[in-house]
Amino acid sequence: MCFVVKNTRVMSATIISGQRQRTCRACGKKFDYPVKGSAATRHHCEDCVAVPPETRKILERLHNRVTQLENQLRRLQEKPADRPK
Ligand SMILES: [Zn+2]
Repeated sequence: MCFVVKNTRVMSATIISGQRQRTCRACGKKFDYPVKGSAATRHHCEDCVAVPPETRKILERLHNRVTQLENQLRRLQEKPADRPK
């Protein structure tokens, strides 16, 4: 008997050992977390933590849009005839 067990449930968890680098939800900046003496949280860098929550919400919305546009741009830049070599 030969059973092929499909075990493709590998979550793409990018766990970097040691200090973790995070991307700020509001401005997209990469920052290390946790850092001693830094006010940064898991989702926001030190700069954006100081921003009032209502304003930060708008920043997050804008950042999401930028991310979407970047992805779209990347897709458009991809050549249809890209051959892996
Ligand atoms: Zn930020």
